Amino acid sequence: MSLEEVEVAVSPMEKFREFLLTKNLRMTRERATIVEEVFSSHEHFEAEQLVQRLAEQRVSRSTGYRTVKLLEEAGLIRKVARQDSRDVYEHDYGYPQHDHLICKKCGELIEFHLHEIGELLETVARKHGFRMEGHRLEVFGLCDKCCRPPKTRPKKLNLL
Ligand SMILES: [Zn+2]
Ligand SMILES: [Zn+2]
Repeated sequence: MSLEEVEVAVSPMEKFREFLLTKNLRMTRERATIVEEVFSSHEHFEAEQLVQRLAEQRVSRSTGYRTVKLLEEAGLIRKVARQDSRDVYEHDYGYPQHDHLICKKCGELIEFHLHEIGELLETVARKHGFRMEGHRLEVFGLCDKCCRPPKTRPKKLNLL
């Protein structure tokens, strides 16, 4: 199941430019390249992989990492989960509310949306006089592939 994009009035580039202004920062060539790269596809991505791809477009590693942090602060992307202590990000802006099933073994991220979860949490929040604005749910376990028993390989006896 894949989730559809949400239509947004302001492009990620424009939204980032506005955010940068509030911090007295400019939209430089490097920053624009990063926004384009990040929003070119809807995949979850690791900061390290992104920075490596950006290096081919003459964006320095430090600028890459710093800009990822700024994009997060601007609410354009969000951190999903840590896989082997590497940060995984995804679009937050222009992407619908959803939750994740995370495989502990291979790191597979499965997205899902279940309307009832939001309603249940609303009920919990109300009980505590809490005004809910959103939620994040990460379910850990093993994906279908990793649950399957390993295929028995034919033994190779003549290797030694
Ligand atoms: Zn798995
Ligand atoms: Zn996701």
